[in-house]
Amino acid sequence: MVDPVRSRERMVREQIEARGVSDRAVLDALRSLPRHLFVEEALASKAYSDGPLPIGEGQTISQPYIVALMSELLRVEPGMKVLEIGTGSGYQAAVLAHMGCDVYTVERIKKLFFAARKRFMDMRMFSVKLKLDDGTMGWPDEGPFDRIIVTAGGHSVPEPLVDQLADPGRLLIPVGEGRRHQSLVLVEKKDGEVIRTDKGGVAFVDLVGKHGW
Ligand code: SAH
Repeated sequence: MVDPVRSRERMVREQIEARGVSDRAVLDALRSLPRHLFVEEALASKAYSDGPLPIGEGQTISQPYIVALMSELLRVEPGMKVLEIGTGSGYQAAVLAHMGCDVYTVERIKKLFFAARKRFMDMRMFSVKLKLDDGTMGWPDEGPFDRIIVTAGGHSVPEPLVDQLADPGRLLIPVGEGRRHQSLVLVEKKDGEVIRTDKGGVAFVDLVGKHGW
């Protein structure tokens, strides 16, 4: 297998920095985290390539650039309480935890939930809290959250998530009809106001749940 440290260096330089992501904490997380341990062994050699990869159950680990872009757009600070919907492999959650966030992540598919939980145990990342549930309902007992990141695309922004967003707070979610027509939407809550901004086209797997689909 190719040297993972050199592969990561190259990934950050050619895929992330080259496309304009400059947040030091984001770059540091992507440089440090062993992305090859978040995919099946057979795909480990492709872990640092410029695209998403299958993680089973018809789901994917996002492209490194998209993870970096969303992590930067979220504008997190150490100590912030962050909710992620769509744990998948656990990679995005690990990036946010590496950036010093207190991460809560929800996954609806049992097999992926248990695989991610084992991964965090094996890596001794004990701070990430995981829940097996429909994340479109949020995590009501733990809200409000300073930041919310949804890593699956829905038709609309689930209302419970906006309710569980702190003021001030930022929420990122891909919204649209199917993978080809999604845009990344930033929802900002400030002084009781909720403002939506379109941050460009993305392609995520479906958000399947009670709200927002
Ligand atoms: N953030 C992940 C990528 C996840 S792919 C990573 O870094 O690997 C999207 C994930 O969202 C899938 O695992 C899918 O099962 C999950 N998902 C879709 N709808 C969901 C919902 N309503 N609640 C929780 N998870 C959901």
